[in-house]
Amino acid sequence: MKIAIGTDHGGLELKAILIEALSSIATVIDMGPNEKKSCDYPDFAGAVARKVSSGEVDFGILICRTGIGMSIAANRFQNVRAGLCHTTETAVLTRQHNGSNVLCLGADIVSSEYAVEIAKTFISTPVDADQRHARRRAKLERAARLSDCSGLAAYDSEIYEAIVDQTTQEDEEINLIASENFSSRACREAAGSVLMNKYAEGYPAKRWYSGCGPVDKVESLAIERAKALFGAEHANVQPHCGSAANMAVYFACLKPGETILSLSLDQGGHLSHGSSVNFSGKLYNIVPYFVDKKTETLDYDELEKKALEIKPKILLSGASAYPRAIDFKRIREICDKVGAIMMVDMAHIAGLVAGGAHESPVPYADFVTTTTHKTLRGPRGGLVLCKEKWAKALDSAVFPGMQGGPLENIIAAKAICFKEAMSDDFKAYAAQVVKNCRVLCETIKARGYRIVSGGTDNHLFLVDVKEKGLTGKDAAAALDAAGIVVNKNAIPYDTESPFKTSGIRIGTASVTTRGMKEGEMIKIGTMIADVLDCIADDKIIARVKAEAKALVSAFPVP
Ligand SMILES: *Cc1c(COP(=O)(O)O)cnc(C)c1O
Repeated sequence: MKIAIGTDHGGLELKAILIEALSSIATVIDMGPNEKKSCDYPDFAGAVARKVSSGEVDFGILICRTGIGMSIAANRFQNVRAGLCHTTETAVLTRQHNGSNVLCLGADIVSSEYAVEIAKTFISTPVDADQRHARRRAKLERAARLSDCSGLAAYDSEIYEAIVDQTTQEDEEINLIASENFSSRACREAAGSVLMNKYAEGYPAKRWYSGCGPVDKVESLAIERAKALFGAEHANVQPHCGSAANMAVYFACLKPGETILSLSLDQGGHLSHGSSVNFSGKLYNIVPYFVDKKTETLDYDELEKKALEIKPKILLSGASAYPRAIDFKRIREICDKVGAIMMVDMAHIAGLVAGGAHESPVPYADFVTTTTHKTLRGPRGGLVLCKEKWAKALDSAVFPGMQGGPLENIIAAKAICFKEAMSDDFKAYAAQVVKNCRVLCETIKARGYRIVSGGTDNHLFLVDVKEKGLTGKDAAAALDAAGIVVNKNAIPYDTESPFKTSGIRIGTASVTTRGMKEGEMIKIGTMIADVLDCIADDKIIARVKAEAKALVSAFPVP
């Protein structure tokens, strides 16, 4: 057991006595101070609270004259529950009921012998063994998530209420939207930070504004981490979103009217790959390729034939709704054969690529674009990676070509996301996303639903609901009413309109981030099939909704 202990000038003697008394049962880390000079309690509360918050120690002990200032200061830290105890009874109760992990003591209130007794009681009392107070502790966690905007609550109740609603929705629904995820608290802190206030047109050390020292550090870190994470020669972290990242690549190497060969939107492509209502379709000559009608997967020989015939300037791969692995090596061969620039939009699978659960396009492609908020689990934003020879053209396409000042607060959150994605935890997450997806897909398939292409290799799959007489729109609405959120999605060669569609798209990134595994996927797959089997049955929908809420309550959103 590890305990961090700290005090202000009012508790030096008691600190020494507690260290002496506890060192036979725990490793006690003395966070100071070590001389009797006036000092500020928040400094030492922060030092101890950070150790508890990060999980480095099991408990914290903080002393000041009353213990009140220490408890106020410590409770401002994530994961910290500081309890101010003047008796052994309160020590027992705050452990059992509140799950306290920091003990605050008043050196002027309790004798030193009694303080030792309180501390021993505190660290030996288990948290709520029968889970009687679990519901209330869950509400404490929720309050912690909302405390990020407690200042705004007083100023703008309308916006605050919407944030509370979003928090409730995240807490209570099973989110299977393939393009969504839950960012970490660290990401959200950076995104809401004062970095938002800085104008920084240009690039690190080459800015059009003064005072860019701090943001230069931020953006350089983001660039270096992006390059290291994906093994890229060059990175531009400024694009505001995935569509802007794609625009930057087109601007870097195409003239208006030149040709892009890209996967058709209604077969899993993206708006920014050449839809006629998007800038890409208006500015460039877009030629779509299609999946094979029978296998519903990419046919690389057909793609090669088409590329040879069309001679595109860019051959674009990557998709929003393609459930299979993409063979980037084969696509490189095609590009070399026809002299096309190879561009891969890995927006959906970037987290799998980062975590080693999908082959990386980076060694093959001239340009790789991505969003940072899908499987990669960072802030809403874009990123472009490219070979060194394209670096200058890319950077000037982003700025001054299409954007003004970069969002350095979001770039800081991207840097955090890249750091997180280099961890072993993230590798485990990426592998689990794919495992979960397979199990969820197989569960629904076993209930008689047709899966587009027969299965999945990544984080998503498509269910053809038309075979069961449903539209994607009605299926998604029934599931939504049951607390399970998916989206309607066209399937290859769909005969329904894009507003109705014949399919639903299901993804497992969000539920995996919450910590769910194969067992939960079987439960969720069964719930989905129960609803789809009779979408007009309100009783079943109500039952599944209660089941969904109960299931997610054990998997807190970060
Ligand atoms: C989501 C997505 C994008 C664009 O993302 P935005 O940030 O919404 O602009 C681009 N390409 C693909 C393949 C996507 O799935």
